Amino acid sequence: MCGIVGYMGYREAYPIIIEGLKRLEYRGYDSAGIALFDGTNLKVSKTKGKVADLEDRSEKEITKTGHVGIGHTRWATHGVPNDVNSHPHLSNSGDLVIIHNGIIENYESLKQELISRGYTFQSDTDTEVLINLIEDVKKKENVKLGKAVQIALNQVIGAYAIAVFDKTKPEEVVVARLGSPLAIGIGANENEFFIASDASPFLEYTKNAVYLEDEEMAVIRFKKGIKIRKIKDDSLVDTYVQELQLNLEEIEKGGYDHFMLKEIHEQPKAITDTYRGRLLRREAIIKMAGVEDNMKKFLNANRIIIVACGTSWHAGLVAEYIFEDLARIPVEVEYASEFRYRNPVINESDVVIAISQSGETADTLAAIKLAKSKGAFVFGVCNVVGSSIARASDAGAYTHAGPEIGVASTKAFTTQITVLTLIALRLARAKGAITSSDFRHHLLELEMIPQKVEEALKSDAHIKMVADIYKDVSNFLYLGRGYNFPVALEGALKLKEISYIHAEGYPAAEMKHGPIALIDENMPIVVIATKKGHYEKVVSNIQEIKSRKGKIIGIVTEGDTQVRDLADHVIEVPETLESLSPLLTTIPLQLLSYHIAVLLDKNVDQPRNLAKSVTVE
Ligand code: GLU
Repeated sequence: MCGIVGYMGYREAYPIIIEGLKRLEYRGYDSAGIALFDGTNLKVSKTKGKVADLEDRSEKEITKTGHVGIGHTRWATHGVPNDVNSHPHLSNSGDLVIIHNGIIENYESLKQELISRGYTFQSDTDTEVLINLIEDVKKKENVKLGKAVQIALNQVIGAYAIAVFDKTKPEEVVVARLGSPLAIGIGANENEFFIASDASPFLEYTKNAVYLEDEEMAVIRFKKGIKIRKIKDDSLVDTYVQELQLNLEEIEKGGYDHFMLKEIHEQPKAITDTYRGRLLRREAIIKMAGVEDNMKKFLNANRIIIVACGTSWHAGLVAEYIFEDLARIPVEVEYASEFRYRNPVINESDVVIAISQSGETADTLAAIKLAKSKGAFVFGVCNVVGSSIARASDAGAYTHAGPEIGVASTKAFTTQITVLTLIALRLARAKGAITSSDFRHHLLELEMIPQKVEEALKSDAHIKMVADIYKDVSNFLYLGRGYNFPVALEGALKLKEISYIHAEGYPAAEMKHGPIALIDENMPIVVIATKKGHYEKVVSNIQEIKSRKGKIIGIVTEGDTQVRDLADHVIEVPETLESLSPLLTTIPLQLLSYHIAVLLDKNVDQPRNLAKSVTVE
């Protein structure tokens, strides 16, 4: 899991690669490196740390000239993050250079084989094995670089997006992908080419891009163009150039201190974008092609199995309440990582919904493959268009949240819930499980959510004050019932992820079965106690906390007085239907974790040990 960037053209490659790596740092950031060819010399600079550290280092180490280059920001899988293990990696001759996103699973046996033939290795990475395997093939078979890459990749088990070039033939770069994304940007008249994990590094230079599919490789030649082939059988593939619609502003911070804060504030727009064209309130219909085209599958389904990881799994739990409550379809929610390995009972009458922001989550992808092999119908809910999960699914719906850069997911969560709510409502209508007036009421309320999120965001200053009071505690408890139980889990996850404070989410009623033992006067407990949905029962739980002197932070409906009298702090959200309340109650929990992390001076957008998309299992 890392970011890769490459350039070949008439401009200086260094600034393009460095700026590109900064935009891709969300994908991994434990080390970084660059290789530049200036017509005579191949210059490599790499370091443990961030792209900013690489800038400092390369300043002292290399001259920053050259029109061909590749760069990498790493999230280590093989070998600790240190200077030597950073990419790019060179082959033994020093001629070939590679950057790699992914894992070579059979690297150890390949390495032993190469060692037995005299190869030596500087690093502990799987990547250095691959570049030497390519060199070995190239020499042994006496073939060009493209062919050598192809033969080598056919011996490899694992996942990769790679870019390789030969300093003796620098007008050619070879790229390939299996399981990790790779985009190629094409300049006017093919006088420059960009390579990147996503299009953000080259958007300001060109909007023309080719996305490689899995098991494809491309040979890119300066002023000559791109030739794409299937890695397995060498067959030529048509080059499909897309015109990108993304704007650079969409992927920059836009005046906010952090991407996470920007993305929290983008939620009204993101939710609107999610239902735009799908929720037609006046006509009282929901239009979603992926659902419409497969209505029979959904209506005849024995059950829906939702597979996901992390925050997306929490969105799946919210969906379980919505689907069962509104559409009366039984739902099971599974961690993709458990599902894929426990020999689950799945058959043709099951519908599997896979949820992933990036669409690249390795465990979710594997769960999809398993479900498909058993004949289940797979519906993907992803944010990234054209992602691996989107392509591996039988049908799907994008969340249209726009790029999410902050590692802690925010707008991805609320837009996933929005898409899943739309699907549940559509199915409820088709099944006749919901009355026409109730359906219309839901559409109206859903349409008003963005404006209500806007209202909820206004508590920001108050939430910051609460954050300041509790920022130094070591433990937090989050409680919720019904639809808001998964929100409690999500609130706790957000706090853990970015502030490194231990937090647990629990169904409020479960508190008595264990967590109540933790409560004393030092323990803050966030309780979601909105008016609709077991309000009285949650109030009783709050009383129980109060008797044990716990500090209560209540998330309440506007105008609430009962909880206000009991709690140490209340944060209000506008009133809505119980089924839509997670879209509002999540907002203060996101802001609370954000402010605590900022007050503790943590790296909000790039928390330690985490990376944005988990493309390894
Ligand atoms: N497996 C490679 C390494 O550990 C690449 C990891 C990545 O995708 O950043 O260096």
